[in-house]
Amino acid sequence: MRAQHPRIAILGGGIGGLAASAFLYREGMSATVYEQASELKEIGAGLVVAPNAARLLRRLGVMDGLAERAVRLDTGWEFRRWEDGTVLSAEDLASSCEELYGEHTYTAHRADLLAALRSAVPGDVRLGKRCVGITVGDGGLPVLRFADGETTEPDIVIGADGIHSVVRGAVTEPSPAVYSGYCAFRALVPSERAPAFARRPAQTLWIGPGHHLVHYPVSAGRFVNLVAFAPAGDDVVESWTATATVREFLAEFATWDARLTDLIQAAGTPGRWALLDRAPLRRWTRGPVTLLGDAAHPMFPFFAQGAAQAIEDAAVLARCVADRPGDPLGALRRYERLRIPRTTRLQEASHARASVNHLPDGPEQQARDASFADADPLKANAWIYAYDPEHALAETSA
Ligand SMILES: Cc1cc2nc3c(=O)[nH]c(=O)nc-3n(C[C@H](O)[C@H](O)[C@H](O)COP(=O)(O)OP(=O)(O)OC[C@H]3O[C@@H](n4cnc5c(N)ncnc54)[C@H](O)[C@@H]3O)c2cc1C
Repeated sequence: MRAQHPRIAILGGGIGGLAASAFLYREGMSATVYEQASELKEIGAGLVVAPNAARLLRRLGVMDGLAERAVRLDTGWEFRRWEDGTVLSAEDLASSCEELYGEHTYTAHRADLLAALRSAVPGDVRLGKRCVGITVGDGGLPVLRFADGETTEPDIVIGADGIHSVVRGAVTEPSPAVYSGYCAFRALVPSERAPAFARRPAQTLWIGPGHHLVHYPVSAGRFVNLVAFAPAGDDVVESWTATATVREFLAEFATWDARLTDLIQAAGTPGRWALLDRAPLRRWTRGPVTLLGDAAHPMFPFFAQGAAQAIEDAAVLARCVADRPGDPLGALRRYERLRIPRTTRLQEASHARASVNHLPDGPEQQARDASFADADPLKANAWIYAYDPEHALAETSA
């Protein structure tokens, strides 16, 4: 006989997996997280916590603690021209973000976000557990097989195992992620070495031909997070630990505004990795197995929404399972019905932003800059920031 609450296995202890566990716990359920790494860790880089994510983190009770270690932005999406830093557009967050969306926008170190989520997960997180296969057993339940030979047979499997997800192959045809042609350089610059303009509580994006560069402070202002996108050669590997040299990084931005080249020079040894791409999926669920976060919908980081969408997924999935404890299959179908349209829109919008950000100078770029000047970016992003997935779910029938 089925237990009152389904036994849930979450594969992956990244932002998505831990968020799923935390939201399930909030709904009075528990789950076991299986993480392949021997410790829970995030790479040394920052991320933007937009109001739609901050709202959900507050409901988990972790936003105040995270805010102390993060930076509350006064300015978001401050687009600047590559050559001379002319401001093309900017969100005035200080005066209206909370008024419009009920939350601020923050930038945080990824490790701080992961730790905040971990603090809301009292349940089991099993480390060093690499899942190597999923099959369906005689009783119709999924069987997870781990590299160390252990197997387990939960009622529900949540694949939060990132862009190279093993679980994804159990719900769709297995396919490798596609190389996007872009690479990203990244660095955390100690703030005492960063120029003053990069220490402002602002998310700044310099856009120019074929490239763009983003910086903002993190860790209560102790570091400046720097990430830049450039066309990649064939030899670029997709790895959070691959490195480049400052010289290679500088070569991509040599003719850009001198304030940027000063910032790049302060970067130490920058990381460098290939940006991968996947088309949106039409289904995330097969039987009692579903996907969440990058395993379901990896997106270019050009709307800074990948982790935020994983957190939204987690909130919705937990509520769907809680609403139908005796009907996991129905719960998972309801979850994917609500989530796929939203994440597909973000995947597509993020994709489109690559060509807009990287226009060569000329009539198209001038038209883009004119349209930036006319727009109110904070309001234009209302579809992202105002969205409350738990309200959206409440409006659908259980
Ligand atoms: C340059 C860049 C900037 C970004 N900026 C932002 C931003 O500002 N805001 C934002 O919201 N998002 C941002 N993102 C997106 C965000 O980083 C991702 O969407 C998010 O980290 C996805 O989380 P996840 O938990 O789904 O996957 P992952 O972080 O990839 O975690 C997957 C976990 O699963 C584990 N795992 C994998 N395979 C197995 C297995 N077989 N068995 C067991 N465990 C396994 C991995 O070890 C890992 O811990 C950015 C991304 C990039 C590349």
